[in-house]
Amino acid sequence: MMIVLIGPPGAGKGTQGKRLAEKHGLKQLSTGDMLRAEVAAGTDLGKKAQSFIDSGNLVPDDVIVDMISGRIAQDDCRSGVIFDGFPRTVDQAKALDKMLTEKKRPLSAVIELTVDIKELVNRLQTRVAQMKAAGQPIRTDDNEQTLINRLKVYREQTAPILPYYKDRGMLKAVDGMASIGEVSVAIDAILVDSDLKSQCQVSGKR
Ligand code: AMP
Repeated sequence: MMIVLIGPPGAGKGTQGKRLAEKHGLKQLSTGDMLRAEVAAGTDLGKKAQSFIDSGNLVPDDVIVDMISGRIAQDDCRSGVIFDGFPRTVDQAKALDKMLTEKKRPLSAVIELTVDIKELVNRLQTRVAQMKAAGQPIRTDDNEQTLINRLKVYREQTAPILPYYKDRGMLKAVDGMASIGEVSVAIDAILVDSDLKSQCQVSGKR
């Protein structure tokens, strides 16, 4: 199964991606986590990405596409991938289509987590407070000013991928403001549906 999770920062993609990966034995690929690991390791890629991350802007498409295309070729992605935070532009979505077509591994579902933007700022504040209380490091882009830019970037550069997938009949929306458990149930229902449909297509029953 190849699944894309889309939603603004703080919508719950990471939480749902982790759960889906555990439940279905898939690999969760968070481009944000991958970039932060490169920054922490001090690689050239990390140095290039740092200022984009800190300002809440997108790292250039070619950097991200190269990073993902190398990663999905690895063994631990063989049973399937949950893409969390990728694609984030229409060009990234097109590049993903091309990669998956070449590998004959089409997307099973594209799931949008819809949210109330005002509520996101509250969620961010809660997350930062919880991490501080637990003595965990706070992400350099987890502050109100950067979040506002990340939301603007989402609206201007990432939201256009929604009609891209809708036009291809792939987009399913889930209310990301529901509880974590309710969101999980809604996502599972979509996956069962898309799994059944793909099985019917294979056996010619549609
Ligand atoms: P995230 O952890 O997904 O919120 O990502 C944190 C930051 O990493 C973003 O604000 C971007 O600067 C960068 N980033 C993550 N994924 C991508 C992507 N697919 N395309 C471009 N930049 C990305």
